[in-house]
Amino acid sequence: MDTVKILLIEDNLAQARLLRESLDGSTFKHFTLDHAQYLAEGIGLLAEQRFDVILLDLSLPDSHGLDSLTPLINIAPHLPIVVLTNTNDDHLALESLRRGAQDYLVKRHVNQENLARSICYAIERKQTEEELREAKMSLSNELVRAQEINEMKNTFVSMISHDFRNPLCTISLSTKLLENSRDRLTKEQQISYFQMIRTAIKDMDQLLTEILLIGKADSGRLKRDFQPIDLEYFCKNIWRSFQLQEDENHKFVLKRQGNLHQGLWDENLLKHIFNNLLGNALKYSPAGGTIGFTITEKDDRIIFQVRDEGIGIPISEQSQLFHPFYRATNVENISGTGLGLAIVQRCVDALGGDISVVSEPGKGTTFVVVLPIVHELG
Ligand code: ATP
Ligand code: MG
Repeated sequence: MDTVKILLIEDNLAQARLLRESLDGSTFKHFTLDHAQYLAEGIGLLAEQRFDVILLDLSLPDSHGLDSLTPLINIAPHLPIVVLTNTNDDHLALESLRRGAQDYLVKRHVNQENLARSICYAIERKQTEEELREAKMSLSNELVRAQEINEMKNTFVSMISHDFRNPLCTISLSTKLLENSRDRLTKEQQISYFQMIRTAIKDMDQLLTEILLIGKADSGRLKRDFQPIDLEYFCKNIWRSFQLQEDENHKFVLKRQGNLHQGLWDENLLKHIFNNLLGNALKYSPAGGTIGFTITEKDDRIIFQVRDEGIGIPISEQSQLFHPFYRATNVENISGTGLGLAIVQRCVDALGGDISVVSEPGKGTTFVVVLPIVHELG
């Protein structure tokens, strides 16, 4: 700091002149001084200009004693304040330090040397206080974050153990039956137990893949592999695979609005997004209805809408859907792990897009994914 800019709030003109002269003669630093006679005038100057330090007389015509400190600290919390007191005001001086001033000077003892030193000391002290405050704040933010991570880890572990136990149970029971009662089981029964084992293994494998994907995304290791693909053809293929799995309960409507320009897409991430969204649309509309998939290009972005007429999501729960393992309270006996949307969210983030949901319980749900079109690899 080459020049120290001081705001002096002091009603006594003679005193103000003395202080100015002391500072003018200082060889220690270069000081400039703006003078206000009233607290209100000082506050006005603070709003207009930048200062490095405030010199404050504690007996002003429009404010008295420590009352002057609070409004100044409120308006300029990062500015150091040096309080000017009269000879017998030791108590007041110490109290002002407690309330946030950085130093005090007894007016009668002020001289060129101690004035400049006190001002510079106050600036240094305030700077150290600010740095300490910031360090404390970032430490406490880190602590909160660490607690959150720990909580999430605990939830993860308990949910994973729970979701693994079911298929493991199936495998254990089926193998026991096949081992001990094979002779009493018909061929069909044996096949069905083997199938149950295979499905349980597939479920566990899928769960592991999903957890690994979330882990990768959260540690910034989710790789993107952009390739030129025909987006419409790709969407139609996913769409068809859902139609094939389906009963006659649902009506499928795929719509493309306007032309789609050629772009680069990560097929793997898109598959995660749309398999999950379409899977949910189907799963959470057990009574049937229309499932709509609309693709629209607008302002170099593609807007994908997946719409169903299913059970919907309670409004108060919608903000939590993307948290791993969260399942809404109205799912009843529809099975799931609560990882699908957490994966979708991470894939959408990795592609620099946005996802939102509009849903009404009993009426249906629409998920909207907006993704930027990538034209060339960055
Ligand atoms: P899975 O991990 O097998 O996908 P899931 O479907 O329960 O399990 P998510 O796909 O993450 O998990 O969805 C989270 C929750 O959001 C669901 O449990 C459900 O409550 C709600 N949800 C998601 N999509 C829909 C939808 N289309 N209609 C109604 N509820 C939905
Ligand atoms: Mg799902």
